[in-house]
Amino acid sequence: MYRFFIVLLLIISPLFGAAHEERIATIERELAKLETNSSAQLPLLIELATTYLYKDPSLAEKYALKALPISVQSEDDVSRSRVSRLLGMATMYQGKNDEAFTYLNQAVAVATTTDDPHLLSICNRSLGVFYELTVDYDNAMKFYIDALKFAKKSDDITDLAMVYGNLGNVLNSQGDFSEAIDYFQKAKNIHRQTNNVEMELNMTVGLGVSYLSSNQLDKARELLEGVLASDSLIVNFTYSEASVNLAHVYKAQGQHKKAIAMYKHVIDDPKAGSYPQALASAYLGLAGLYETLERFNDAQRLYQQGISVVKNKTSVESEIALYESAAMLQLQLGNYEEAARIQAEYIERRNTIQPVTQSGIIRKLEAQIKSERESIKLQENLLQREREARNSSFYLFSAVVISLICALLFLTLLLRRQKLLRLEHANEVLIDASETDYLTGIGNRRYLDRKFRSQRGIDIDMAFLLLDIDYFKAINDTHGHDAGDKVLVTLANTLKGQCQSDDVFARIGGEEFVIMTFNKSEVDAMAFAERLRGHVEAMIPPSECPQDISVTVSIGVAIGSMKCAKYDELYKQADLALYQAKTLGRNQVKLHKAP
Ligand code: GH3
Ligand code: MG
Ligand code: MG
Repeated sequence: MYRFFIVLLLIISPLFGAAHEERIATIERELAKLETNSSAQLPLLIELATTYLYKDPSLAEKYALKALPISVQSEDDVSRSRVSRLLGMATMYQGKNDEAFTYLNQAVAVATTTDDPHLLSICNRSLGVFYELTVDYDNAMKFYIDALKFAKKSDDITDLAMVYGNLGNVLNSQGDFSEAIDYFQKAKNIHRQTNNVEMELNMTVGLGVSYLSSNQLDKARELLEGVLASDSLIVNFTYSEASVNLAHVYKAQGQHKKAIAMYKHVIDDPKAGSYPQALASAYLGLAGLYETLERFNDAQRLYQQGISVVKNKTSVESEIALYESAAMLQLQLGNYEEAARIQAEYIERRNTIQPVTQSGIIRKLEAQIKSERESIKLQENLLQREREARNSSFYLFSAVVISLICALLFLTLLLRRQKLLRLEHANEVLIDASETDYLTGIGNRRYLDRKFRSQRGIDIDMAFLLLDIDYFKAINDTHGHDAGDKVLVTLANTLKGQCQSDDVFARIGGEEFVIMTFNKSEVDAMAFAERLRGHVEAMIPPSECPQDISVTVSIGVAIGSMKCAKYDELYKQADLALYQAKTLGRNQVKLHKAP
């Protein structure tokens, strides 16, 4: 007794009419206008691949392969997963099981990173169909149940109907007919609600198969004849499946003529030729019937024909059954060599199907690793692009985390740096304040000391000028202390105006100033001091003082090198020269000469 089954379409098969051809032409024109591998091509390529999936899986594969690199580059996991799934299905329908397995696992893995229940449902369902086609019903069931979980969350009620259909189908294969009937019925109801006549009829075929398998032949016949009566409404696929299963019903009811006619109808029908499952089932059914009728030659011929027609197409249970039945027949007929040959061919064929499921776990892991690698590559690309665009929006969780850590570190460093700068600034302010003469704003004795220390040891000439205001006490006494202060300020400004940037100028006492000037010969230093004296003499007194007031300075000059200079010594020498200038009548410059 053979099992009867159908493999349901994953999505509603597009009717391939003029409207479709026109749409395809439009898409191809649009594609030609776009830059190759541009992201705008992605939805168009996906649409093309989807449209061709059932009509011509190799073309669907070609378009999906073009979409693949674009989808990997895009930041859109939904598109990536959809493209992998399309590739998986297109390769699966061409019998390229290894590739199909990798792509479909990838589709599921990427879909898992999204929150899209529709996508998750169809991807899990596709992998379920793969297992079903490779006769691994336990795994098929597992993925259908996952698909069901997501379909319940999906906004698209069709998802649920499709999973119910798949579940019905796999339950039929496992011999659980009453449960299968429940699922097909549920699926049928949803398709009726959504006015999807094609799929409703497809589910009716599923129901018919369940009744046939559970030997409720009249019910099966009524349903399947009903489906075929709606000829104009059904897609080729449903038509072939309904026909072959109705032939099985006739056979089971002993209506051999009707059964033979129906089987032949399927085998000769060019429309059915695109559905290897239905075709295999028809060859198997008819050959089996001929066996019953003891037409062994016809049976042998049909088994062989069946095998050659469906070989290397989608791997299905019927195809395996063809080998088994053909071998059994040869055994019965005593053709042991022929039976062994068929058995060997069968084993070879089975080995091409089963490695996929046997090494399934390893391949699944490999697919996951591959998908993870791609995801890492994607993240790197994103980070790179992000840097280039200086875009502050973060696309991926890891990028967010890394950026946050960087930002935090940066902020901490910034705050620390700012704090340091503030401290440095405060320090500078304090140093400035402590080294600034409060009255005139020029450096004070502390400033002079620091400058002196910083230059000491350097091999440069230096002149040390000690300036003292003449008869300053008298200015204070005559015009008041405030006027004296103003004179000090005006005088400081006048002298400062004559100094160069590297000269060191400080007020070291009441009306005593020091100027250190560098890299000058003795003559130049004396000329400089003389210029200073002259400017003070010509200075316009502050407005608080009578304008005829005369302010002069006496200047003592000591000459030395910074290499071995000592402040006290220089000061003493300059002071001696200053004393001389004072005693010689003031308002003059004197150079200290070593005795
Ligand atoms: P000499 O030509 O000999 O230097 O005569 P002098 O009057 O300048 O004599 P001396 O150097 O003894 O006088 C210094 C005077 O400077 C005494 C003090 O009243 C005055 N003085 C010191 N510091 C200040 C100050 O900050 N403001 C004012 N207004 N006067 C000051
Ligand atoms: Mg003095
Ligand atoms: Mg004085």
